[in-house]
Amino acid sequence: MKKVLILEDEVSIRSFVVINLKRAGYEAIEAGTGQEALDRLKEHPDIGVAILDIMLPDIDGFEVCRTIRATNKTIGIIMLTARTQEMDKVTGLMTGADDYVTKPFSPAELTARIDALYRRIGGDAVGDGAEQRQGPFLLNTRNRTLEKNGKRIKLTQVEYAIMKLFMQNPGRALSREDILTSVWGREFDGELKIVDVNIRRLRIKIEDDTANPTYITTVWGFGYKWGA
Ligand code: CA
Repeated sequence: MKKVLILEDEVSIRSFVVINLKRAGYEAIEAGTGQEALDRLKEHPDIGVAILDIMLPDIDGFEVCRTIRATNKTIGIIMLTARTQEMDKVTGLMTGADDYVTKPFSPAELTARIDALYRRIGGDAVGDGAEQRQGPFLLNTRNRTLEKNGKRIKLTQVEYAIMKLFMQNPGRALSREDILTSVWGREFDGELKIVDVNIRRLRIKIEDDTANPTYITTVWGFGYKWGA
């Protein structure tokens, strides 16, 4: 069964999430503190998606996210945020989260996000084992890896999905809406800013000069274009 970690110190919210995860066919692994979450992840290395609350009694959710990402690039991470400030979402994404859900959320919304992340992690049936080489870049869709000049670039699931979309559409201007729909799914009703934040992070990883990006170029007022 697909495992999902839920880190939330408020028991009522955690139970609510657990019930809905089970209903959606997931096995729920529970944690009430940041440390507990890290322990559960060690016990269950096959957890595919982690849902992390931010306000916790010990380590805050961003720190937990950073700690997980330091050793695990492939797990899907969703931040639960009670606050609606843009900054929180951006901070979460910059620490390596793939997605965020703002409280209060509906069970359908949360499971849709988890399903979408699991699809990205597991599903790449089309073009299985295919390698795409463009300029200095080599994308391997079986291992879900990206190399630049033979050196592995560590990407999150979302960054990988964006790179794959770019490399399937070289030279084509993609609108931010196109990228959002393709990477996050049609059911995602988040803001376009999430695209920009991920592009900024990707540029840091893949561009020769982040200040003057040449691979991912901005199409003003529209979106982004890939060329290598
Ligand atoms: Ca909390």
